[in-house]
Amino acid sequence: MPENGTFDELGLPPALQAAIADLGFTTPSAIQAQAIPALLGGRDIVGVAQTGTGKTAAFGLPLLAAIDYDIPAVQAIVLTPTRELAMQVADAIQSFATHLPGLNVLAVYGGSPFLPQQRALARGAQVVVGTPGRVLDHLERRTLKLDQVRFLVLDEADEMLRMGFAEDVDKVLSAAPRERQVALFSATMPPQIRRVAEQHLNRPVEITVSRQASTVTSVRQTYAVVPHRHKTGALARVLAVSEADAAIVFVRTRGAAEEVGSALIERGISAAYISGDVAQTEREKIVDRLRTGALDVLVATDVAARGLDVDRIGLVVNFDVPREPEIYVHRIGRTGRAGREGEALSFVTPAEQSRLRQIERTTRQSLLQVDIPSPAEVSAHRVQALLARTGARAELDRLDLYREAIAVHMAQNPDVDPFELLAVLTALSVGDEGPVAVQGDDLDDALSRAHLTGGGRERDGERSYDRPERGERRRADTHIAGGSPRWRVAVGHRDGLQPGALVGALTGEGGLTGKDVGKIDIFGSFALVDIPDGLSADVIDRLARTRVAGRPLRIRLDSGPRPGHGASRPTHGPARGRS
Ligand code: ADP
Ligand code: MG
Repeated sequence: MPENGTFDELGLPPALQAAIADLGFTTPSAIQAQAIPALLGGRDIVGVAQTGTGKTAAFGLPLLAAIDYDIPAVQAIVLTPTRELAMQVADAIQSFATHLPGLNVLAVYGGSPFLPQQRALARGAQVVVGTPGRVLDHLERRTLKLDQVRFLVLDEADEMLRMGFAEDVDKVLSAAPRERQVALFSATMPPQIRRVAEQHLNRPVEITVSRQASTVTSVRQTYAVVPHRHKTGALARVLAVSEADAAIVFVRTRGAAEEVGSALIERGISAAYISGDVAQTEREKIVDRLRTGALDVLVATDVAARGLDVDRIGLVVNFDVPREPEIYVHRIGRTGRAGREGEALSFVTPAEQSRLRQIERTTRQSLLQVDIPSPAEVSAHRVQALLARTGARAELDRLDLYREAIAVHMAQNPDVDPFELLAVLTALSVGDEGPVAVQGDDLDDALSRAHLTGGGRERDGERSYDRPERGERRRADTHIAGGSPRWRVAVGHRDGLQPGALVGALTGEGGLTGKDVGKIDIFGSFALVDIPDGLSADVIDRLARTRVAGRPLRIRLDSGPRPGHGASRPTHGPARGRS
């Protein structure tokens, strides 16, 4: 990592140093350490740097140092490719100017009325940040004059050219006085940008920084302590409540990409996975689906996601902590793009927590610990999503079937409170089967344990059902008399469970024979199965670990009422099968 020194060494005036301190910047980024002294020394610069390297302060601070605050005339112009960037950069420069009374920064951009901008310009601003088209507009209407301008910045020059602003940029530069400084920033250096630099810049100092040594702060960085074997379950919950349009999940190996990707797909999440050995054309197709919204979650290895640039990605999940901090920085750079906010969440096992410190040192930011959403939070989120769809569904009508069913139900159960009934229906619609289903959820158990033990080791031998369900195990050990015992598994229709898969697991991993397995009823989030002879503790142990349709079976004696009446009819109908 390059040593960038401190801000005091860069030669900035005290008022700007004070503002930097207010903002909490302690050490300059690489581009700042190199650009600020060059610009303060009166040189033009060409800076090649990616997003998130701290360019705004690299030009914003020297730009403010060059301004005479007593003169109300425009003295600095910053051109940016988009309206959002113009506003962002203007805000940032204003925040550097908090100790410079009388300094005004104004953003001007297309797509918004001309007149208020014209009035603001007339009131006087020393710094104007704008999109090239609108700045040129103001120039041509003479609402903006460049005769006092001594500092020009082209921010994200390659992006401006890509957006067709080449001619406008050229005109603005040509209209500015010869005696001026120019700073040009670009993520790439195509010949077109070289030409702009040759034509308009005066023997510029060239500065190139790599993204690796940079700060990425449009990304909220968080971590959660999750034991390894619970990561997939935790991931599914995180994705279930995420507000992000799309997410990318980073894994280390091709095998992990496939495993995690398939588990998400099995849970009905719009996901795909890619690794380095996926052909380029296939990879592009998948990335395109992610871009257009046909796909929401991409599970990828580092190699496969190299250079991936999709604005929709609002969340990056590090399924495991990368070995190198540089890989981490590269991964989280997939979000927070195009000026958007992003979040990066890293799963760390209790034993891995020390790796976080290394990452914090590299990114110069601390990671915030967050909790994995609880089942209640996931349900609450699903309820909101469900309610949001009710209006549109109501408009489509064809609800008579349901109106009648409810009318009959209410007539038969006159004591039922309609609100209560609505609450029950809502709970069932989001797959919440009540406390019975939640009890003994070993993900939550493990999460609270990981939390309590802090940096402690993951206790792999311990299974959470040892505790809440010990009583049931004993009951199972001692044969059950009377009636046919029904067993409940925590996998259901929602997970795409087929009866054959369940029978397969019971006979395969459980060592039962086909004769031992009776009737199977599959419901939304669970299934019930008759096993007339019961199960030994040993078999329960093995089956608890068995995964079907991507989820652990968590088999246990059913304590709930037997379904088969009224509302609780199985979604798949009673079925039997063999795989
Ligand atoms: P770029 O224009 O290169 O994409 P920005 O100038 O927008 O990067 O900076 C990215 C983020 O980093 C901003 O939130 C900014 O406040 C923060 N930042 C910039 N320089 C520093 C620094 N020296 N120390 C801490 N944070 C910084
Ligand atoms: Mg920028």
